Amino acid sequence: MTYPDYQADLKYLELFRDDGDEAVHLLEPLLAFRLSRAYRASRRLRDQLRIESAGRTRDAQVYLYEGYKEKRAGFNMAANPDRIIGTRGGFTFRGSWHMAQEDGYVYAVDLTHHGRLDWGDVHDRLRASGLHETVKGEPWHHQATTIRGPLPGPFPDGTTEEDDEQMTPEMEERFDGLATWVFNGTTMILKRIEELSMQLEGTPPKGDD
Ligand SMILES: [Zn+2]
Repeated sequence: MTYPDYQADLKYLELFRDDGDEAVHLLEPLLAFRLSRAYRASRRLRDQLRIESAGRTRDAQVYLYEGYKEKRAGFNMAANPDRIIGTRGGFTFRGSWHMAQEDGYVYAVDLTHHGRLDWGDVHDRLRASGLHETVKGEPWHHQATTIRGPLPGPFPDGTTEEDDEQMTPEMEERFDGLATWVFNGTTMILKRIEELSMQLEGTPPKGDD
């Protein structure tokens, strides 16, 4: 479900991309709303927190998964795009929280602070806007929604939903975390190859920040 400022918020979030391939435009509306809100509320986040990865299209996930299955060079473990994460209200989440779902949206974002902030401080600021860590051992991974529905936090219509249910990390989410780690690793390798080829051509590589 989108909201009036959704496109404007996506555009705003583009300012905080880390190095260009984060696919911020795929973020689901509630996640985009809450992340924009967190950035607007905190100068420290604006200065030091970056969006490392939002997600990828289903086609990109298929590509990664097939490369992994066929043991192609440079491919690591990737989630099967057809594996079922869970079903809620007739909507089935598949593949990875970082893969675009049947509604076209990605439901997770990975953030990075390049060591200038500590996660405890970042988490307090993000939680205040309804962004939660949902994968144990992955302090960078955040969602506004899980299989159980929206997590506690503000909504675009001005309401705030309270959720007393105890959040427990699910096995699927852990697997998703592993896939994210592998995907980021693959991205890093591709970037390094690009840097080396640019060095061969005598062109300085692009800086990160
Ligand atoms: Zn993640």
